[in-house]
Amino acid sequence: MQDTSTDRVVPPGNTSEEEIHETDIVFDCPHCNHSLVIDYRAAGLTIDCVECKQAVTVPIPSGMIIDDLDLSAGEVLTQLFQTRRMLLKAEQRISALEESIDSLKLRRKELEKSRITTLHRCAELVTLCQTMLKQNNELVATVNRMQNLLAEEQQL
Ligand SMILES: [Zn+2]
Repeated sequence: MQDTSTDRVVPPGNTSEEEIHETDIVFDCPHCNHSLVIDYRAAGLTIDCVECKQAVTVPIPSGMIIDDLDLSAGEVLTQLFQTRRMLLKAEQRISALEESIDSLKLRRKELEKSRITTLHRCAELVTLCQTMLKQNNELVATVNRMQNLLAEEQQL
């Protein structure tokens, strides 16, 4: 199958689009002759041909010193440091959140305890009110009885 288009072999972690950049390596698959394009950092690596899926070694362009790739190693290292910094920040944020969760749990426990105490106080107040009402009724009955006795005494 002969195809004249050039397919970009997307290296792992790279989602770049169809454009060919100056720094790209353009070469033909030795198995199917399909034209391939890949980022210069893949020079010397083995990849799978997008057309025939066979293993292909990316040629190292003439004049390209493999030391040039140190730049990408530096970039990778920078990314690694950035990622590590972000990870550290995320971990700090997580532990801060965990601490606030713990303090919220403690606060909730305290509130629950004071709620129960309040409930007990309310129940006792209701009982005392009922006792007072009962005593008040008895007092009224006693006063009425006394008034009746006095009235009977005055009628004699
Ligand atoms: Zn191929």
